[in-house]
Amino acid sequence: KTFADLGLDARLVQAVAQQKFLKPTLVQRRAIPLALDGKDVLCKAKTGSGKTAAYVLPVLAGILKKKSVDPTPATTALILVPTRELADQVFKSIELFSAFCAKDVRAVKLTDKLTDAVQRSLLSTCPDIVISTPARAWHNVNGNSGALSLDKLAYLVLDEADLLLSYGYSEDLESLSFSLPKGIQTIMMSATLTTEVDSLKKIFYRDQQPTLL
Ligand code: AMP
Repeated sequence: KTFADLGLDARLVQAVAQQKFLKPTLVQRRAIPLALDGKDVLCKAKTGSGKTAAYVLPVLAGILKKKSVDPTPATTALILVPTRELADQVFKSIELFSAFCAKDVRAVKLTDKLTDAVQRSLLSTCPDIVISTPARAWHNVNGNSGALSLDKLAYLVLDEADLLLSYGYSEDLESLSFSLPKGIQTIMMSATLTTEVDSLKKIFYRDQQPTLL
């Protein structure tokens, strides 16, 4: 199987080729078609497995598809990560994979290094993708003049879900879960499937069961 076989937008396939990714990794082969199909997935995947592309590519595909119908700026995807370093990596991945559709996709990264005013200004134009720790995201939803609106959210990603919990973000995550619109697609990546990840599963998937990969 190639990336083109997975059903991705041609501009994304082109970007993947530019990265010299010859073929999709196991987690990409499994997760991308399901995510493109709108399924909630919980993926057991470690760093190095290609987990970032496994969710970034279908999220970008969804954004491009939506924009071709309705170009109104809106934050469509929220990617929650445990650390600033991971936020940097994810941001870089999005830049690389959107190389051939750069004018259609804007991503911002929220960090605690930015002042509230800068965060408000970054969010004021409704970037398609927001990458953040749960605490920064909740701060901008609940505080900071409600700079981050989740009304139009369609994708929620929890990357390194097990670490999100061990880093003490459970309260922020729970608060965020109550601010999400109904019917969004949730993708979780976790190196381990601990009982804590089970509790995250309950918070974000409620009664629905995600496809376990
Ligand atoms: P990740 O697991 O997302 O942290 O990715 C680990 C590394 O693998 C990153 O440096 C990617 O650029 C690389 N990578 C991801 N998918 C592929 C692929 N299909 N072929 C070759 N390299 C890949």
